[in-house]
Amino acid sequence: MFVVWKSKWVIAVLAVLISVELALTGFLVAKNFPAKKTTLIDFTVVIDAGHGGIDGGVVGADGTKESTLNLAYSRTLGEIFERAGFNVVYTRKSEGGLYGLPTKGFKLRDMRERKRIIDQAQPNMMISVHMNKFSASYRSGPQVFYQQGEEEGRSLAESLQRVFNDMTGKERQAIAGDYYVCRETSCPAVIVECGFLSNPEECAALQTDSYREEICNLIFSGTMLYLYAG
Ligand SMILES: [Zn+2]
Repeated sequence: MFVVWKSKWVIAVLAVLISVELALTGFLVAKNFPAKKTTLIDFTVVIDAGHGGIDGGVVGADGTKESTLNLAYSRTLGEIFERAGFNVVYTRKSEGGLYGLPTKGFKLRDMRERKRIIDQAQPNMMISVHMNKFSASYRSGPQVFYQQGEEEGRSLAESLQRVFNDMTGKERQAIAGDYYVCRETSCPAVIVECGFLSNPEECAALQTDSYREEICNLIFSGTMLYLYAG
């Protein structure tokens, strides 16, 4: 159902990455650096798992909560960046929300806490991970959003959408709008809606390890496309 790795862009990006990684690995071995404690690249990515706690986000037909999937995807994506030598900062590392007590105004407190974590990290890039929903069940596939007027955010979003489109065969555009987490972030920032929980087939696929890894690898490839060719 899903076609993988057919893009020449993805293959080109991977070839660059493999050669960079081999060169850096050789350098570290030669210098006798302890690999685990060494960050290869001075580049920080904040990965923001959307929702959490009493805010479960959208819910699939089978009861799957967006917040749970967002967390799993954020962890997998973060591991991919960490393995490649990037610094990774997570806004949310557990099922709980970031709002403190679940009282009135929790959503704004949650968003402000995300902003505080992002500001403190002084990142080079921010990726907010979400799942989508539509009134009709046929709609499927990843969709990327960015803050209207933010050129670098647009460029990052377009690179990501291009890699996703190669997988799905769709011709979807990255969508501009006004989103707190992107507006309040000074680095290139995007929201990635990984798929539609309102589509039963995609909702089931999104819960598998293999599809999660595929989507997260595509997000990583899209960011590399932005960094190297964007
Ligand atoms: Zn969401």
